[in-house]
Amino acid sequence: MTILVLNAGSSSLKYQLFRFENGAHAVLAKGVVERIGLNGSFVGHKGKDGAEVRIDGAIANHTDALKKVFAALTDKDYGVISGVSDISAFGHRILHGAEDFNASVLMTEENLQKCRKNIDLGPLHMPPNLACVDACRELARDTPNAAVFDTAFHSTMDKTAFMYAIPYEYYTDYKIRKYGFHGTSHRYVSGEAIKYMEKIGKNPSRIITCHLGNGSSIAAVKDGKVIDTSMGLTPLEGLMMGTRSGDLDPAVIEFIAVKTGKNLAETINILNKKSGVLGVSGVSSDFRDLSAAAEEGNERAELALGMFAYRVKKYIGSYFAALNGADAIVFTGGIGENSVKMRERILKGLCGLGVKFCAERNLSAKRGEISEINAADSEIKILVIPTDEELVIARETFELTAGK
Ligand code: ADP
Repeated sequence: MTILVLNAGSSSLKYQLFRFENGAHAVLAKGVVERIGLNGSFVGHKGKDGAEVRIDGAIANHTDALKKVFAALTDKDYGVISGVSDISAFGHRILHGAEDFNASVLMTEENLQKCRKNIDLGPLHMPPNLACVDACRELARDTPNAAVFDTAFHSTMDKTAFMYAIPYEYYTDYKIRKYGFHGTSHRYVSGEAIKYMEKIGKNPSRIITCHLGNGSSIAAVKDGKVIDTSMGLTPLEGLMMGTRSGDLDPAVIEFIAVKTGKNLAETINILNKKSGVLGVSGVSSDFRDLSAAAEEGNERAELALGMFAYRVKKYIGSYFAALNGADAIVFTGGIGENSVKMRERILKGLCGLGVKFCAERNLSAKRGEISEINAADSEIKILVIPTDEELVIARETFELTAGK
């Protein structure tokens, strides 16, 4: 089977083409359409033999973008399939499943309607996600579409964990509660951690997964099921992030609005786009830039990095309590997988919980592989595990559509 995984943002469309054969999988091509609906749109495509090409040209909307993806995948020079009919199914990353979806589903008309009703829970991501499903249905009428939700893996949370302490009717009337995001990543790395530990004779039941990237979240996973996670109704809650504030006193919102004359939407936009390590440092949302600035003596960059690490540590501590201890802590995402220094900042302060960190192993952790960075005698494993959200989406799509 050949499966095209699609991850649509408001002005971008990431794609990856998988082939599943005899129980194994291979990535045939991948790329990203950038600046959809803006000046200077282009497709960055990596196809046959890993050769990279950039295809410039106007791209007005997600249907246009998908046409360009199909053109790249079937191009006679750098394409990898002979026609769009070679694609057996599409797998879509969908931000919000609300309480309607606790697992991946085929995008039937009925499911699509349910998703449309949840647009207000993810007004930035849901419209492009669903526009991409519409485009596939228009351009490849007979090919099935699977929806894989960012929220689904967290649907096992208990009410005590997911309710907000606000009038109950807001939950029943407006579905206001914690949902959590990055579910495909937490699911993948917690699964990989269990496999890894079983191979070395352990039987882990309590895992804390830290997905640290531009967006960051943590999950507490017990016996393969999420019992708590840091993001909320939207991805704004929880950890401090590249540009998101994460947790703060909700009264700050009114205070900012009154002091600056901004309206509610503008204030929330500041908390989403201009806060986090960018807002505190005034330097960048990129942790590589921040590290470089901190090393040159920039105090606000140092402060932002210190705050980020402190908040991750606090969440890990609270999930130790939620899980009654932990068997493993997992780091993933762009920062979790690559930033030796950030892992060290976070982990050095955790020895009180019985976490024994090994600086040498941390330094020599190989990119793209599972690495153990705890000291040999640490009861709690600390693992760095590369995430692969696209593979999870492709596998789910395969399972929903194989033989259909
Ligand atoms: P997204 O949430 O967009 O998927 P990623 O998981 O790709 O984001 O993470 C992006 C973040 O990872 C950026 O802040 C970037 O600075 C950070 N990052 C990537 N490589 C490194 C590195 N070698 N050292 C420190 N940070 C890194």
